[in-house]
Amino acid sequence: MTTRRLYYDDAFEREFTARVMSCEVLPPNVNSGITGTVWGLILDRTAFYPTSGGQPNDLGKIADANVLDVRDEGDEIIHIVDRRPESPDVNGCINWPRRFDHMQQHTGQHLLSAMFQERFGLPTVSFHLGAEICTIDLRGPEPSEEFLEGAERASNRIIFEDRPVNVRYGTADRLSQLGVRKEVDREGILRAIEIESADLQPCGGTHVKSTGQIGLVLVRRWSKVRQDWRVEFVCGGRSERVARRDFLRLRETAEKLSSAFEETVSAATRALAERDANFKDYRAMLERLAKAEAALTLQTAPSGPDGLRIVSHMFEDVPSEFLGFFATEIAKSERTVALLGLAEGGHLLFAQHPAFGKDMSALLKTIFEKFGGKGGGARDFARGRVNDPSQATNALAHAKELLSAG
Ligand SMILES: [Zn+2]
Repeated sequence: MTTRRLYYDDAFEREFTARVMSCEVLPPNVNSGITGTVWGLILDRTAFYPTSGGQPNDLGKIADANVLDVRDEGDEIIHIVDRRPESPDVNGCINWPRRFDHMQQHTGQHLLSAMFQERFGLPTVSFHLGAEICTIDLRGPEPSEEFLEGAERASNRIIFEDRPVNVRYGTADRLSQLGVRKEVDREGILRAIEIESADLQPCGGTHVKSTGQIGLVLVRRWSKVRQDWRVEFVCGGRSERVARRDFLRLRETAEKLSSAFEETVSAATRALAERDANFKDYRAMLERLAKAEAALTLQTAPSGPDGLRIVSHMFEDVPSEFLGFFATEIAKSERTVALLGLAEGGHLLFAQHPAFGKDMSALLKTIFEKFGGKGGGARDFARGRVNDPSQATNALAHAKELLSAG
């Protein structure tokens, strides 16, 4: 039998009475995500909206049962409930804040899609009403910032005019004559939603009574999804929450930047420029310090009997760039090699004066064959990291042994 859909005639009906037509335990696999025994309840009439057309289902109560899901199964609407009603006559009550939010988003979508279509020639090819944000996918060229703002502003102008939102019925031909936005190829009497002098669109969903109830449309980000442009937006109560949240974030940012609220962008730009300049200074100072330490080390580094010098040092608490500066300075000295390690991260760096005459890259490779690690380089300069940083000291000692052995 056919369930009478009360929301078709009055989307503001939130409580109703109905008669139970059937109520059966559903097999567990039918309800992914719902645990425990559930029943599929069919009533002769219902105000519960089932998931369809991009709008999620209602929640609420039927008698003592919680409604967990509502499904559209052809002529019938199935309420998934967590217990069987005791009486054949039941009261139903839908979760109104949830439904009203859905109606605000959904009606707002009709309006916004109409503005994109009418003003910028961008048809909507799909709609998603999410828990936080809503999206529409537009087909055509990338909408410019001007288009997005233009569609938002045009929608809000119609909201401020508080135009009636009417339900119209007619055949496909009749709706076509009336200028329906999306042609439907279906027999019989169709239901369409009209936003007066703005839009006519076939739809079986629930909508607010007048555009004023949409509250406000806020267009947010957009991105490319396959061939279309996905535009995020929020309406009504969500607009209020999003605007409040954005404001708090911006205020917090301003506080952190110690700037006036209106000057966060210039304050952030300044802070980033300062950071870059400081980083340049820091690198320059690090290089000077590494060179000075290398020069001191060289003064006391003994030469071997063959006139070759090995400077080997395990560093702690220096940034890894320090090793590069230090090694470069050491390797400027005739017939000298630097074998360096850094305890944190297990860095190894080998650098030689060309006259030292060994192959640093080959040496590093030999070390990694024994201790495990990744890296590479050239004949005079090679660097990498051992897999286990606690092995860096041993690896460095081994490299020194290999070199000393000739
Ligand atoms: Zn609709």
